[in-house]
Amino acid sequence: MSAQYYFPKFTITLTFAPTMANQEDIFKNIISHSKEYGFIFQSSEIYDGLSAVYDYGQMGAELKKNLRDYWWKAMVQMHENIVGIDAAIFMHPTTWKASGHVDAFNDPLIDNKDSKKRYRADVLIEEHVAKIDGKIQKEVDKAKERFGEAFNEETFRSTNARVLENQAKADSILSKFKDSLEKNDLEAVRQIIIDCEIVCPISGSKNWTEVRQFNLMFSTSMGAVSEDSNTIYLRPETAQGIFVNFLNVQKSGRMKIPFGIAQTGKAFRNEIVARQFIFRMREFEQMEMQFFVRPGTEMEWYNHWKETRMKWHQSLGFGEANYRFHDHLKLAHYANAACDIEFNFPFGFKELEGIHSRTDFDLKAHEQHSGKKLQYFDPELNQNYVPYVVETSVGLDRLFLAVMSKAFVEEKLEDGTTRTALNLPAFLAPIKVAVLPLVKKDGLPEKAREIMDLLKFDHATAYDEKDTIGKRYRRQDAIGTPFCITVDHQSLEDNTVTIRFRDTMTQDRVSIDALAKIVDEKVSFKKALMSLK
Ligand code: ATP
Repeated sequence: MSAQYYFPKFTITLTFAPTMANQEDIFKNIISHSKEYGFIFQSSEIYDGLSAVYDYGQMGAELKKNLRDYWWKAMVQMHENIVGIDAAIFMHPTTWKASGHVDAFNDPLIDNKDSKKRYRADVLIEEHVAKIDGKIQKEVDKAKERFGEAFNEETFRSTNARVLENQAKADSILSKFKDSLEKNDLEAVRQIIIDCEIVCPISGSKNWTEVRQFNLMFSTSMGAVSEDSNTIYLRPETAQGIFVNFLNVQKSGRMKIPFGIAQTGKAFRNEIVARQFIFRMREFEQMEMQFFVRPGTEMEWYNHWKETRMKWHQSLGFGEANYRFHDHLKLAHYANAACDIEFNFPFGFKELEGIHSRTDFDLKAHEQHSGKKLQYFDPELNQNYVPYVVETSVGLDRLFLAVMSKAFVEEKLEDGTTRTALNLPAFLAPIKVAVLPLVKKDGLPEKAREIMDLLKFDHATAYDEKDTIGKRYRRQDAIGTPFCITVDHQSLEDNTVTIRFRDTMTQDRVSIDALAKIVDEKVSFKKALMSLK
């Protein structure tokens, strides 16, 4: 049997070197690629968009669903003691009083009177300190270059006059800032901005307003009458839907501690500075799990979930060096330990997931505000207690951005051409198989449709007969489709097709009867889930 392959005739040794100049360009290209191929659109674009709100297109919705499924399977399906719920977005307003969000879910904001632009005061100060850190780093880099092998960074940092001066400056600003936040002294926060001579990046002026606290919750009213008592909030986190259902789930599911409740769903925050595409949105999706444990065992579980969640992220295969932990030094009032899993986004390492040991703060607060007991009877200890909680909380949109930013590649091929591809793990790809008749006649489209009918019950498939086969392959590469099946005249004779693999661009000729098995094996979540053990 003579094998006929389509398109790449050159030997396939790829140079996987990004052809773009820098990270900023890469980020811009990811944003335009996301739009061009139907992953992400600006919300209400025809009306010039709505700031920090985005819609997922036909490809984005599939990829997002696969990411959500992978999380759900890993958390719920793989754990006998974790169950999933789907709580409503609207909750009784007292929920948010109890959780502390009404009184304390604030960002300090400041306006520049000339540009009329609004900023987060804490961000202005942190960026100013980052600039000082940048100056220190420059000194260190210069000295490293000058002294070569003999350079000792620790000694240099502790003796160089310019470094010491800048370090003292940065430390003093941060300590004043921490102090003013702890005392909730907004005038002192403003004074730091004035003393540091921070200017507005738009107007260049130092003409600042007072600093005010700004609550990040969106509110609306329920029912026909618009009174204060009818004010309800769009939830700023999904976690509270789990806390208030703790006993419902424990009792109806006969759950024994330790056990977890998982949930995915929308959350809303009126972010003051919303930028960096889908990194910081006003409407976003969270995937959270609250793990209820016996008091005193929370640190053991906190460490367990830190490790488990890091492993889950790394199982996506984008390189361990792109993830790191960042332990919180200043803890929220309800936490006794907290850290972030940070990811190396195109704009640097930033929070992707938070892991928090929240003590019994939330359940106790709901007990107090509702007057209902939220306790667990532990048969082993023969006593009632309010469980402690370890929480894992990841933003689905941030995860999406993390995946896109590492999967997106522009490759220079050996023949000098470039190709844009999304190197997604096959189980995450929006479309698993594209079926392509070589030509639009001679019964090839009909044969291709037969193959679609064979595969579509189990997999997301696409049919494409427009343009040359090479162009069609490239379109599938750009959306991350792992397999392209080409139907040719030989297919009609011997029931075989070629299957082309996105990553290597190689092709095999295989029997149509063998297709389902080949695809099933490669696109299943199973292998990834097994690697988590
Ligand atoms: P940040 O410090 O970046 O504002 P956070 O510490 O307030 O985040 P959490 O309240 O811990 O975030 O929320 C858990 C997760 O939800 C975050 O790790 C992030 O992935 C996601 N998330 C939070 N705010 C947003 C947002 N505005 N847009 C998109 N995702 C978000």
